[in-house]
Amino acid sequence: MIETEIKSKALDEIIGSIAEIAGYIWQKGWAEKNAGNISVNLSDVINVPLSDSTSYPHNELPSAFNVLAGGFFFVTGTGRRMRDIAKDPMKNALIIRIDDNGKGYNIISPSDKKVLSTLRPTSELPSHLSIHSMITERDSKQKVVIHTHANELCALTQIPEFCNEKKLNRLLWGMHPETKVFIPSGVGFVPYIMPGSAELALATVKALKDHEVALWEKHGVFAIGENITDTFDSIDILAKSASIFFTCRSAGLEPEGLTDNQIDELGKIIF
Ligand SMILES: [Zn+2]
Repeated sequence: MIETEIKSKALDEIIGSIAEIAGYIWQKGWAEKNAGNISVNLSDVINVPLSDSTSYPHNELPSAFNVLAGGFFFVTGTGRRMRDIAKDPMKNALIIRIDDNGKGYNIISPSDKKVLSTLRPTSELPSHLSIHSMITERDSKQKVVIHTHANELCALTQIPEFCNEKKLNRLLWGMHPETKVFIPSGVGFVPYIMPGSAELALATVKALKDHEVALWEKHGVFAIGENITDTFDSIDILAKSASIFFTCRSAGLEPEGLTDNQIDELGKIIF
């Protein structure tokens, strides 16, 4: 249920898209148990002043997110499964409003006390808000952050040779022409850091300054985009390239890959 005060056709459409993509992430096998999380900046969609912010439950944040003050965000719930978010997003996710001083947030939805009693934002909320702060500061149109465990991309980072940003991107671009066309900046590689740590959040923000996708060694992917469908597509395209690599290797063959000249030529295509 979306609360009446913030309800709009645009919000309904975004929530519908999130549910659709959460289903695809589950079908892809990228979301075992409660793996993965999604956040979307809704500040352009929810622009009604709240009648009384003190009537909503309030939580503190571990650090201040001044840039996001007064902003509204969709965030998936901690421990919630992607397959359940697909079925009923608003019973497995929340809409929060960041305080005017950026130090905490009100939970705007759900308002149903029974649903809310077991629902908290993803434990990766500080990482998501750090990324949204970076995006907002540079005045980008990007609104969406997805974290997921894309199998083939996780598998690549189990191979020491590819725990190197240059080699990783050379491999991914070489496996299919459209990877260079649609992901021209490639992926940012983040060496293994303890999940949920402030250090990992910082490293992810750094990687996403120059890329739309960051690959966490031996863990998964963080991707940003203007809408949830395009953000999912970026991960899907990269996963396809990694999958082609492993298909060749599984057959006992060494994939040849595109040449440097072919990759450079693809990089000049402008849409
Ligand atoms: Zn994860």
